[in-house]
Amino acid sequence: MCEPLSFVWPHIELDEPLFEEAFIRRWGDDAFLRLRHAGILQQAESADYFLCPFCDDGHAEEVVSWESEAGIRRFAIPCPENGRVMLSPEQLRQWSVSFDRLVSLLAVGLGLTGEVSEIEPRRLWRLGKVSWQGGLRDVLFATGFDSRCLLAPPPDVGKYPSAIVLLPHAKASSVNWSHPTPSAISLTQIVSLGADGVEFDHSLLIPMITEADAVATQAAQSQMNLRELKVLISREVKSIQAHELTDDVLVRAYVQEGSYRKAAEFLSRETGQEITKDKVHRAVQRCGGTTALARGGDSNSIVRTVASQRRDRTKKIQRRPEGKQNQ
Ligand SMILES: [Zn+2]
Repeated sequence: MCEPLSFVWPHIELDEPLFEEAFIRRWGDDAFLRLRHAGILQQAESADYFLCPFCDDGHAEEVVSWESEAGIRRFAIPCPENGRVMLSPEQLRQWSVSFDRLVSLLAVGLGLTGEVSEIEPRRLWRLGKVSWQGGLRDVLFATGFDSRCLLAPPPDVGKYPSAIVLLPHAKASSVNWSHPTPSAISLTQIVSLGADGVEFDHSLLIPMITEADAVATQAAQSQMNLRELKVLISREVKSIQAHELTDDVLVRAYVQEGSYRKAAEFLSRETGQEITKDKVHRAVQRCGGTTALARGGDSNSIVRTVASQRRDRTKKIQRRPEGKQNQ
């Protein structure tokens, strides 16, 4: 038996999810009835246009309606092959998602405290607060991160740095987040529709939040390193000539950007002068090469490792016996 919510999640990201009766019937009666019973699907306005059920070319026509002599409302579309194609009111039924109902079911399913509120229309909701490691955290539900969305831009969840952000469909790792990166998890794998509402798989939920927090912390660290690096560059450019950028800055830029070329482009942008990738390459080599950097972990410890290696080397050179210096 298919999980009813799995039919709904991919469409929730869209601006106005609207399902035709025939489309929903393909999910199976069980899924449809359960979604309807839970109040997640609600009847919307009948279709204005309808795909001809008789023709293979899939022509859609505007629905015309009139009242018969017996006082009954009739519906039809014109078809070039079959003339007037009569339609029943059931065929024209459409269904939409009740977001109010869905977000309240999610809040109940998570056992959150506090009120559910819509922060940005059809894009961002606060579901309530959850106890987490001795404190309380906001839980948000956000849509609009799917590339198929055309209307409003996705919400700026970066404004809620300590919140847990639930995404209906989009994978957190595939979203191009603005900064700071939130702790975001996708609901598709951990939520199901039970007899009493939405149920969460708590055994998966907690590790997923922990992992999402780790991803967010890593992104914040990287962002902080980038800011720190920009400050260092601007200081060096102001105090000395850009062509005298220290190895520390050149190596940090390499670690931040991930390649000699990108580091050179970044430094050229930041200094307003041309910094070649050879210059970056030479600095990395002087500091022990890429293998030494890869051992470092985060860029701060890399730079510390590099700096201490350089001091060691200086000492070795100084300690070299005088007699061997000119060999
Ligand atoms: Zn037709």
